[in-house]
Amino acid sequence: MSGGGDDKHLRPATRLVRGGRRPEWTGPVVNPPVWRASTHLYATDAERQAAGHNNADGQFFYGRRGAPTQWALAEALTEIEPGAHGTVLYPSGVAAIAGVMLAVLKPGDRLLMSDNAYDPTRNMANGLLTRLGVATTFFDPRDIESFRTAVAGAKAVWLEAPGSLTFEMCDVPLLASIARESGAVTMIDNTWASPLGFAALEHGCDIVMMSLSKHVGGHSDLMMGSASAGKRWYTALRRVSHELGQVVSPDDAALAARGLRTMGVRLAAQTAAALKVAEWLESQPQVARVLCPLLPSDPGHGLWTRDFTGGCGLFSFVLASDDPQASARVADALALFGIGYSWGGFESLALPIRPEDYRSCMAGTGGAPALRLSIGLEDADDLIADLGQALARV
Ligand SMILES: *Cc1c(COP(=O)(O)O)cnc(C)c1O
Repeated sequence: MSGGGDDKHLRPATRLVRGGRRPEWTGPVVNPPVWRASTHLYATDAERQAAGHNNADGQFFYGRRGAPTQWALAEALTEIEPGAHGTVLYPSGVAAIAGVMLAVLKPGDRLLMSDNAYDPTRNMANGLLTRLGVATTFFDPRDIESFRTAVAGAKAVWLEAPGSLTFEMCDVPLLASIARESGAVTMIDNTWASPLGFAALEHGCDIVMMSLSKHVGGHSDLMMGSASAGKRWYTALRRVSHELGQVVSPDDAALAARGLRTMGVRLAAQTAAALKVAEWLESQPQVARVLCPLLPSDPGHGLWTRDFTGGCGLFSFVLASDDPQASARVADALALFGIGYSWGGFESLALPIRPEDYRSCMAGTGGAPALRLSIGLEDADDLIADLGQALARV
């Protein structure tokens, strides 16, 4: 769905509140209602034929092209993504990744993928893309000189900043400009920062995707993904999404739109709490390292402050223990953190991690026990006290 665009002069917090709320979609209520629709009825057969030829965004046609609930969410996402012409919705973040890959790559192409990309993205490269005849090379995104050599002849580059599990930052504008000079398309997974924290298209990326299951949903009760781009790549994303029959349910789209309205305040609160917890963890004798670009001591902090306008509550820490079971013991001892996948919800989560299982050329934690935390909306001092009693058992 391509964006209305009248609000582009407004600041992000204001656009979050206003995005997609066209009167013709909302009627007299505040948020767009749930339009459950497969068949769209036409007054005349001439109208049906015109709709088929028109093929435009925001036109009734058939349920697979959505209805106002999905259009409103997609338009709101476009309005908060600087440089985007339009946004396509997918039933999960991984489906969005697949939609982006299939819109860009064809048999015989070579893909460069950041080694700290999300594990299922790596699996897609090693599985689906390999079967389709696309070869992937994994690279360390901090090694600019090797990238200059590797990018020659590559069709596309997949970035994620900061990386999954270990949160290394990379110089996205520099990597994207080197890729562009070489004729390669830059795609980025921006789930961690969201457009509120990092304007990926304005920093040189061609296509930006995120899992809406995380910050946009924000309440751990829905799965969805999105991809946004300028006109050329938006058109390609939309075509492939239609070819694959990708559609999201209007009920989930309404939930995601509702989550979007409060995403700004949630992210600000979670970022502040995460920084407080991360700083406290840094000073604990049981903690060897905290992997969090919000921290001034982090090697990626300079890039984060230069390019990003916000963060989130997700980071990891490495225990100063050589017992591989230590991370599981800490997770089991926590009372306020659930153990589970996903993140970005209102409730805090802890997850023992082994990033080296998902790396080809980066170090991970070198086998040391580590945990990833997703800081929710609880009081940070309660979370710190809970971590304190759990760490005391290591
Ligand atoms: C969770 C996640 C995804 C996948 O999203 P789903 O909605 O769970 O399919 C993609 N990228 C990153 C960085 C994630 O953390």
